[in-house]
Amino acid sequence: MESVVMDFHFTEQEEAFQKEVRDFLAEALPEDWVGVDPDGHSEQAVDQLHQVYLEMRRKIAAKGWLGLMWPREYGGQEDSLMKQLILEQELIYAGAPYWGLSVTLMSGDIILQFGTEEQKRSFLPPITRGEVQWAAGMSEPNAGSDLANLQLRAVEELDCFVLNGQKTWQTGAHYADWVILYTRTDPNLSKHKGITTFLVDLRSPGITMRRIPQMTGHPAFSEVFYDNVRVPKENLLGEKNKGWSVALFGVYTEKGFGQMLINNARRDFDLLVQYCRETYVDGQPLAKRPLVRSRLAQLAIDLEVGRNLGLRLNWMAANGRSIVAEASAMRVLGGSLVQRLANFGTQILGLYGQLDEQSKWAKLRGRMKYLYLASVAMTIEGGTNEASRNIVARVGLGLPKG
Ligand SMILES: Cc1cc2nc3c(=O)[nH]c(=O)nc-3n(C[C@H](O)[C@H](O)[C@H](O)COP(=O)(O)OP(=O)(O)OC[C@H]3O[C@@H](n4cnc5c(N)ncnc54)[C@H](O)[C@@H]3O)c2cc1C
Repeated sequence: MESVVMDFHFTEQEEAFQKEVRDFLAEALPEDWVGVDPDGHSEQAVDQLHQVYLEMRRKIAAKGWLGLMWPREYGGQEDSLMKQLILEQELIYAGAPYWGLSVTLMSGDIILQFGTEEQKRSFLPPITRGEVQWAAGMSEPNAGSDLANLQLRAVEELDCFVLNGQKTWQTGAHYADWVILYTRTDPNLSKHKGITTFLVDLRSPGITMRRIPQMTGHPAFSEVFYDNVRVPKENLLGEKNKGWSVALFGVYTEKGFGQMLINNARRDFDLLVQYCRETYVDGQPLAKRPLVRSRLAQLAIDLEVGRNLGLRLNWMAANGRSIVAEASAMRVLGGSLVQRLANFGTQILGLYGQLDEQSKWAKLRGRMKYLYLASVAMTIEGGTNEASRNIVARVGLGLPKG
């Protein structure tokens, strides 16, 4: 991996922006807000959380903070990477509903990279105005780590492409308006070659969905079925049969993902440290126990490594360097770190660590139990740890393909 020199100090202007975001969040989030976990496991609970998300999206857009770095002609502010990072860090730390925003902004980044002038003018401004939500349409029942195996078929007709097939694990698809969809246009080419990407309106006739519960119990993603769905030709993104380069850009430069996990973990870590300070057992705070101190200190070290790797990664991306290996390293680090934190957190809470927020006996509002279950997915979603390590080995270390 490449060596680079960077300065991560905030300027006065950046510090002022950080304060502005913090003040905004204190005002904008509902009172007593602890995080993004829905209150209960039902669809209604997730739907209620989505309403909070929509309200936050509207408020953040009104501040002009969506697409902060994008060109002004597409609704952006042409602002700095550091301010973008500060914004993300603060939103995630405060537990503001973020997933819908991150996948929407990432979709905007992909359109900015591969879209025609007309597509950029038509699709980016509504994102910056906080009017739409996008989903990521990659995985299928037989195409996860081996994404190039995707089979959802797109057949060209005179004025459109006709889609047939299935996607799965589509986070938030049931709330989304649009999806960046990866399809197979030529089954006779080698599997990486016959892929084409489309911008698809999820309200199109022929699309049906079935919600899938996650391990936490929350139905937060969906299977999406495409039955003779007609997509206008002007919605083809990039070139026909060259969709693999769009997928690589989308997957490998999903640079925020590992960092998002680290930022998320920092909030729960701080809550855990506070709990260990304030909780007395046999007349002594937990924080005095050597094992507890040592494990907390190790987590603090890991978090700091993650924070620095995240800053480095974003700096490299903003300076046009390849981040394929670094983004994968970040993902492994982020997901594994949250799992270690959740594991230790539930141990510290003892039997209380198994209780949901709804229980009157729950500690830390049931966050550790939620994190324990939610963190299993964090070494799978957006690329499993095994797949990410393969990329680090091949691209970062230059080892031969396994
Ligand atoms: C919470 C969550 C949200 C998600 N959201 C979305 C979304 O919004 N949109 C979307 O398109 N997808 C989404 N996904 C899907 C996700 O991208 C896939 O789950 C992921 O790519 C893994 O694919 P898979 O589940 O098919 O597992 P598989 O690829 O079948 O992997 C199964 C196991 O085999 C291992 N394995 C596979 N290949 C190799 C190899 N070559 N070498 C070593 N080990 C290997 C894997 O590491 C894993 O342990 C989401 C998944 C989760 C869990």
